[in-house]
Amino acid sequence: MITFDLSCDQGHRFEGWFRNRQEFERQLGEGLLVCPLCGSGKVRKEPCAPAVHVGRRTAPERPEAGPRDRGRPRPEAFFLALARFVERNFEDVGGRFAEEARKIHRGEAEARNIRGTTTSEEEEALREEGVEFLKVPLPKYDA
Ligand SMILES: [Zn+2]
Repeated sequence: MITFDLSCDQGHRFEGWFRNRQEFERQLGEGLLVCPLCGSGKVRKEPCAPAVHVGRRTAPERPEAGPRDRGRPRPEAFFLALARFVERNFEDVGGRFAEEARKIHRGEAEARNIRGTTTSEEEEALREEGVEFLKVPLPKYDA
């Protein structure tokens, strides 16, 4: 005995049991097959549904991180662009940042855009004096 997945023109799906494939084809050809649900004689063999198996085979066990990240806006790109802007347009005063920022704030030095490094103590002192500055996470270029 063999079984075939069958369906009628109404979309009903059912299983047919046959002695062999030739018997199935004979019954089908003679119009002996009818849908047990609606009696329709327009019955056909369901094609195999490889999609189920293919889907299972090709679906990765674990989603990989790499391809999923593609197309997402990358924060690094933003910071890199910002870093380049700062690099081009801000004078590098290095470790004298706090000193220079304070001078500019007091009007003792030319008002200009500067960049540099600070210690947390310097930052605290600047804040207390009301010196405005911005901390930007900059990637290292020269590494
Ligand atoms: Zn039917």
